[in-house]
Amino acid sequence: MESILSLCRRRGFVFQSSEIYGGIAGFFDYGPLGCELKKNIKELWWKDMVQRREDVVGLDCSVIMHPRVWKASGHVDGFSDPMVDCRESKLRYRADQLFFAAVSVGGKKIGYVTELDDVAMQSHAEAAAQKLKAKLSIQGEMEPIYLRPIAEASPEELTQIPSPATGTPGVLTAPRAFNLMFSTQVGALSDAASTAYLRPETAQGIFVNFKNVADTSRMKIPFGIAQIGRAFRNEITPRNFIFRSREFEQMEMEYFIAPDADWRRIHGEWTELRLNWYRSIGIRGELLGVDVHSMEKLAHYSRACTDITFRYPFGAQEIEGIAARGDFDLSRHRECGGKNLEYFDEETRSHYLPHVIEPSAGVDRVFLAILCSAYDEDEIGGERRIVLRLCPRLAPIKVAVFPLLKNKADLVDLSRIIFLRLRHHWNVDWDAAGAIGRRYRRMDEIGTPYAVTVDFESLENGTVTVRERDSASQIRISQEELLPFFTEKLET
Ligand code: ATP
Repeated sequence: MESILSLCRRRGFVFQSSEIYGGIAGFFDYGPLGCELKKNIKELWWKDMVQRREDVVGLDCSVIMHPRVWKASGHVDGFSDPMVDCRESKLRYRADQLFFAAVSVGGKKIGYVTELDDVAMQSHAEAAAQKLKAKLSIQGEMEPIYLRPIAEASPEELTQIPSPATGTPGVLTAPRAFNLMFSTQVGALSDAASTAYLRPETAQGIFVNFKNVADTSRMKIPFGIAQIGRAFRNEITPRNFIFRSREFEQMEMEYFIAPDADWRRIHGEWTELRLNWYRSIGIRGELLGVDVHSMEKLAHYSRACTDITFRYPFGAQEIEGIAARGDFDLSRHRECGGKNLEYFDEETRSHYLPHVIEPSAGVDRVFLAILCSAYDEDEIGGERRIVLRLCPRLAPIKVAVFPLLKNKADLVDLSRIIFLRLRHHWNVDWDAAGAIGRRYRRMDEIGTPYAVTVDFESLENGTVTVRERDSASQIRISQEELLPFFTEKLET
């Protein structure tokens, strides 16, 4: 993770938001290379989910919607995480990410330790327990440390559990519900009636527009409505870089099906399709997984949910959830909005509220998964290099063009001509600074799949070398062949 963070910072993929003011937790800015990669992810998703399908159309809704949308969807009353406050440091923790354990020596309890959820939290807790024992100068054998979620702590235990921030026992509150929606005021008056919310998901915009799209697009069930857009959640503990942030982008699709359709089969098909999509954009298969939610873990409106997971350096975590939501959302909007949202099925001559299958992915989580999957360090010609093995369709820069020497006008001129010609079709870079090997390294590190070098032979016979990133192998082709060569390599 350290290497990924350092690469993102060094090469301008991602910056901390408002960095010159010390940053703001949970918000990030995507730099020149980052915004290209992010745009490519969204474009590929849109192509595969909307443009290449006859049964899906797109939508682009406003971020702020009528507040009653969020009342109907259950977000106003239920979109909350139990949280724990440290009264001393004023820091706030998600209860499901805070663990505690009693420390006992020779059958006698000597205190408690707390740990934040982490792959190494067991060993951290054991080390903290040893430290506590040494601090209290207690002799004897320590009993095994069993970490438990803070939600299981009794009021008596809470008076002795130390804050993870300050170490002071008894300053943590019991878990309390904390709504994750950001609120704002619409209009000049600031009263309860003007309170609105920044959307915490893009999906509700799709539901409230279902009738509009069904009536105007002539789509027939089964069909999907897809949307890419920003979502906002006031996460209590934003962490793991862009994995859990407070402002992020979602790529969501609601696939509307008849109430009597075989939803299990359709849900399974979408899960398979989405998993294959991640493989198709070059994410290594061995890092992908599926997590089928058990009945207890399901939200009350969900009939089934399968997460697609990615093995990040901090553990396997959800990148996309594929939920079977029945007709929960449409029936809630019908009930609260008082409008008939039924679909008329011309084939069966019946009116009904369709059910949905919802594949919902986070752009930023996919972005991080792609970087983690593509990052590699190897050796070329006895020299170590960092290489991003990005699939060409995702690479921020597709081709780099180099003159062999920057002080030879003929080489510079010809390389500029080739650069300008290619730039018309793809995002292409031109670089004349430093030794050629170093220029290759700079491009390898940001995942540029091809580099074209113009040398003295180019001036004689019009051929150039094309170097491929992963193998570092080089071929010589004529300038005229570059366009068809890259069209085939970059666009298939
Ligand atoms: P988690 O349990 O990790 O908080 P979730 O189950 O609440 O996620 P959903 O409501 O299903 O997430 O949202 C759909 C997708 O949106 C997720 O699979 C994830 O990719 C993305 N997402 C959700 N919350 C965040 C966040 N705070 N930062 C970045 N992406 C997010």
